[in-house]
Amino acid sequence: MLSAKINSALKTLYCTKCGTIYDPSRVNTVCPKCGGVLYADYDVEYAKTLINCDLLRKRPRSLGLWRFMELLPVKEGRNIISLGEGATPLIKAKRLGEILGLKNLYIKDESLNPTGTFKARGLSVAISKALELGIKKVGMPTAGNAGAALAAYAARASIKAVIYTPKNTPKTMLTEITMYGAELRLVDGTIADAGRELSKVKDVEGIFDMSTMKEPYRLEGKKTMGYEIVEDLDWVTPDVIIYPTGGGTGLLGIWKGINELRVMGLLKEEKLPRMISVQSTGCAPIVKAFHEGKEYTEVWTNPKTIAPGIKVPKPYADYLILKVLRESKGTAIAVSDKEILDAIKELSKTEGILPCPEGASTLAALHKLLEQGLIDKDEIVVLVNTGSGLKYIDLISQYI
Ligand SMILES: *Cc1c(COP(=O)(O)O)cnc(C)c1O
Ligand SMILES: [Zn+2]
Repeated sequence: MLSAKINSALKTLYCTKCGTIYDPSRVNTVCPKCGGVLYADYDVEYAKTLINCDLLRKRPRSLGLWRFMELLPVKEGRNIISLGEGATPLIKAKRLGEILGLKNLYIKDESLNPTGTFKARGLSVAISKALELGIKKVGMPTAGNAGAALAAYAARASIKAVIYTPKNTPKTMLTEITMYGAELRLVDGTIADAGRELSKVKDVEGIFDMSTMKEPYRLEGKKTMGYEIVEDLDWVTPDVIIYPTGGGTGLLGIWKGINELRVMGLLKEEKLPRMISVQSTGCAPIVKAFHEGKEYTEVWTNPKTIAPGIKVPKPYADYLILKVLRESKGTAIAVSDKEILDAIKELSKTEGILPCPEGASTLAALHKLLEQGLIDKDEIVVLVNTGSGLKYIDLISQYI
């Protein structure tokens, strides 16, 4: 099914700051004029002729996120680098829902992805497109999971990968990166320092920078979470989606995906979800900027949290994240490490899902939102468990 030419409805890339249009048949990073994040734009009328709810229903789940190939950027099936990413379950959390007094609580369980996190979605699409564009060497700064996923897909695509990561990254991810044959370069400091190190060498070494939101196609992979959530709710959007926010691709992707379904007329109701960003009290630049009414974040100094995926001192796409939270009438909320650890236990014991700390933070946030009366008991609430707790077992086991 994926071997032939794909009717991708991708039209252009546009800058989310200055609006300049770019040609997706060339290699693109961020807007060369203003540094803005580039978004992929699809021909809606053409897409409508290619894809609809019935047709999607007939496509096997085994195609994973490539079930939505017309709404993805890859043109030739032979360029698709897939390990079975996407098509994760939306699990109704009945026991946990009863405890919390919620009738429609769901967990989008991304731990079932290759490499154990949702990062696989973005990197399957980005590496496939990189292969299509003839890119031979890629690199990124990472808190671990994105690097592991990049390394896995790059291995399969026979593309060289160089990964910059903080020294204190969990051993599991460092081992994964090495096993997949990527070059691992350890850095003192945070993911921001890792990014600076990569920037210094990328031109000299001919490395294509796959940093979060500095490359247009990781987001395209992640938007399929939005497609799947809505499809599994029979083309109705949830009322609330709670997402752990680091660089913001997951949250932005879900919002982009749901809005694409909306403009294609695939939603049963016009209603859109309230998007809720969760961060750690030890690193909460988005939460701070949101509540101060700012358009951009300030760099969070001395970030500290047990959830490495959300330890991002200044997300590159901060202005987009803040816009989505406001547009969707959502909010941003910070939780402590203690609350995260309690939530790991609670989700494991009630639903049999051992979440990563980042994923557990959404449950910790849900408790607070309920206390503050910000969610009604009949509303459809989706928590996104972004990855498997098994990747953090050394860390989690210290707190038993
Ligand atoms: C990267 C990561 C996040 C944060 O995702 P963004 O899309 O960058 O905001 C959350 N959870 C896990 C497990 C991650 O690896
Ligand atoms: Zn621009």
